[in-house]
Amino acid sequence: MIGGGLAGLSSGVALAEAGFRVRLLEKRPHLGGRAASYVLPSGDHVDNCQHVTLGCCTNLEDFYRRVGAADKIKFFDRLYFAAPDGRRGIMQAAALPAPLHMAFSFATFPLLGWADKTAIVKALLSIALGGGRPADSLPSPSNGGIGISMLSWLQKHRQTDRAIRRFWEVILVSALDEELDRIEARYGIDVFWKAFLSTRGGYRVGIPRVPLGVLYDGCKDAITKRGGDVQLRAGVRGFVVASGRVEGVEREDGSVETADYYVAAVPQNILPGLLPSDVVEREPVFSNLSKLRSSPITGVHLWFDRPVMTEPFLTLLDSTTQWVFNKTQLYGEGAESGGQYLQLVISASYNLTQRSRQEIIGLCIDELREVLPATREAALVKGTVVKEMCATVSPAPGSDRWRPKPKSPLAGLFLAGDWTATGWPSTMEGAVRSGYLAAEAILFHTGASRTFLRPDLRPEGLARFFAHES
Ligand SMILES: Cc1cc2nc3c(=O)[nH]c(=O)nc-3n(C[C@H](O)[C@H](O)[C@H](O)COP(=O)(O)OP(=O)(O)OC[C@H]3O[C@@H](n4cnc5c(N)ncnc54)[C@H](O)[C@@H]3O)c2cc1C
Repeated sequence: MIGGGLAGLSSGVALAEAGFRVRLLEKRPHLGGRAASYVLPSGDHVDNCQHVTLGCCTNLEDFYRRVGAADKIKFFDRLYFAAPDGRRGIMQAAALPAPLHMAFSFATFPLLGWADKTAIVKALLSIALGGGRPADSLPSPSNGGIGISMLSWLQKHRQTDRAIRRFWEVILVSALDEELDRIEARYGIDVFWKAFLSTRGGYRVGIPRVPLGVLYDGCKDAITKRGGDVQLRAGVRGFVVASGRVEGVEREDGSVETADYYVAAVPQNILPGLLPSDVVEREPVFSNLSKLRSSPITGVHLWFDRPVMTEPFLTLLDSTTQWVFNKTQLYGEGAESGGQYLQLVISASYNLTQRSRQEIIGLCIDELREVLPATREAALVKGTVVKEMCATVSPAPGSDRWRPKPKSPLAGLFLAGDWTATGWPSTMEGAVRSGYLAAEAILFHTGASRTFLRPDLRPEGLARFFAHES
């Protein structure tokens, strides 16, 4: 297993459970890849960036359960929103069957007008009646089999500017880390179907109560107790390939390791560099990876000298800052520390990549002063900004063409990563799905078939009458 992110870990744990002796080689000194945490020189344990899951992420939940981390995720039924003038709105399910369970919250939501709501309801109805696959969102042969963008689909469905800004954009830019004109409509629509329409619980937001790294404590055990091992600071320089087969991996210390099967669970922009260049040029599966684009996420960590926020998290409308997480509360730390640690997230943060860290902190503080008035009096003890330029793979129209299946064209080599063909966007759930699919592909190759992949939540209530059989 090359790579100890969620794809490598989930594949490794699944294969170990299936009786394989797994050796996992991770380049960095910690597990978790892009969903990791580390200790700052100040001693603070911070996440690379706040990560959240949703109730509809069935495989991530399964993985956390397998490694004993499920109870470290707290799920929230209430979503909190704030307009720039500080007004609040809440969305939560009422006692109605899906897809009507959010109807009451939505009807009374104070941060959208009636014209916005009418337009949104019509579009949501079209998604629900189409069972999450409305015909006008599907790729058409006239367009070379490439789907339209989410923005085009919303424009077709006559959404108001405010509905786009305060509803569709707010949910999709953070869920898919991309702007609406660069998201294939299928992906955007899937988010609404799976999280908000097909079941009552799919929208619930799951947030770790611990730094991300703690979630992976059980992974090493799961692999070692079945005879395998997990090695950190164990980078791989490249695959040894001969006659169309992987015959080993060369480690950064120059040694060569051999195995019956190899899983490359590294990011898509790293994999080609680990393969001989003639193999990459010859095999479209590898050469096409350069066509997958990445999108950035910026995380801003702020420590105040006093409590400034009461909600566990807040989604900001019409602001550069998209989410504010009350880390002190989420970690279950009381007021005894005196201060409060907030983590802000800005997805698809193209506008910030060129701006200095000080400028970004200044901009975020200005926005917080409007929605969290207590920050006006509070002193900022310290702040840090983490810019991830290649945070996720952009779900651009047509990008599915370049996402490969787990079995690679090289004998012995299997692929895992949030960028492979999972049907899901580049997320933790996508990464775990890819890990399970790679494990299943290896087992299939040995003739011993086993299923690790968990199905999506079954559509419930009225939604099940519109769902497509899968
Ligand atoms: C800032 C940010 C915020 C995010 N927020 C969310 C969120 O809220 N919810 C969500 O679901 N998803 C979120 N994501 C996406 C999520 O983190 C990723 O989709 C997922 O973690 C990818 O897992 P992976 O295993 O496919 O890849 P990675 O996590 O990138 O793992 C690849 C691993 O391979 C290792 N590696 C690379 N080269 C070598 C080598 N030569 N030898 C050995 N090892 C190597 C790397 O060190 C790394 O550990 C976010 C991502 C970022 C960056």
